[in-house]
Amino acid sequence: MNNKIKSRIACENTSEEAPLFKFKFKGNKYYVCSKHIPAIIHNPEELVGILPGAESLIEE
Ligand SMILES: [Zn+2]
Repeated sequence: MNNKIKSRIACENTSEEAPLFKFKFKGNKYYVCSKHIPAIIHNPEELVGILPGAESLIEE
């Protein structure tokens, strides 16, 4: 059991499979793998329901 990774968004990749990056959003810490960083930048709507508060990333 690995409690170091509290919350990983978008996929289940581990650091064995892809580089993981830690980030903070609205005071919470998350991990995202390198493959899903583009989703945060370009497709934040895909994160709604996965990342709490992702609605605020979507530009009207
Ligand atoms: Zn990923």
